[in-house]
Amino acid sequence: MNIKIADLAFEPLITADTIQTRIKEIAVDLNKDYADKAPVFVGVLNGCFMFMADLLKEITVPCEVAFTKLSSYHGGVTSTRRIRDDFDLLTDITNRHVILVEDIVDTGNTLDYLVAKLSHRKPASITVVALLLKPDAVEYPVEELKHVAFQIPNEFVVGYGLDYMELGRNLNGIYKRVV
Ligand code: 5GP
Repeated sequence: MNIKIADLAFEPLITADTIQTRIKEIAVDLNKDYADKAPVFVGVLNGCFMFMADLLKEITVPCEVAFTKLSSYHGGVTSTRRIRDDFDLLTDITNRHVILVEDIVDTGNTLDYLVAKLSHRKPASITVVALLLKPDAVEYPVEELKHVAFQIPNEFVVGYGLDYMELGRNLNGIYKRVV
C-alpha cells in the first residue's frame, strides 16, 4: 500500500519480515567472526536505531554498544555532501574491534569520513555493517564495508529508521519514493 509523508508519496520496497530474516543471517556471520573478540558496536544515529536494536538482539557474543551522530541529508532527498558532526563517539576504541552500524550508504562520503576519523584512534579493526547500499550512487568506496543487508536502486527511501523531513522513521518496513 502506498503512503504519503509530508508532500511525497512512497511505495513498499522491503517488508518488515524480509528485513528481520536478513538481519538473522548477518548476525550468524558476526557471531562467528567476533567470538572472543568483545567487539564494540557503534551505531551511527539517527538512522541506525531500529537496525541496531534488531541486530543486537541476535548477537550472542559479549559486546559493547555505543553511538555517534552524523548528518548529511539535512531534511531533503539528496545528499548535501556537508557532513555535520553532531556528537562524537565517547568510548575508547584503542585496540578494540569496532563494528560500525550504518543505515544507508549512498555516495559513501559519510562513511569514508567516519572510518578515517575513527582509524586515527588506532582500533584493532573496523568493519562496517549497513542496512542498505545504493551501488549506483557510490563515489567513495569504503573497503571496511563488509556486510550489506540489501542493495537498492538509486532512489530515495524512508522507514525502519530512515526519515523524510524527520518523519517516517517509525515505519517497520522500507518504502521508496514514487516518482
Ligand atoms: P552518503 O554520505 O553515503 O552520501 O549518505 C549517507 C547518509 O545520507 C545516510 O546515513 C542517510 O542519513 C542519508 N541518506 C542517503 N540516502 C538516503 C535515502 O534514500 N533516504 C534517507 N532517508 N536518507 C538517506
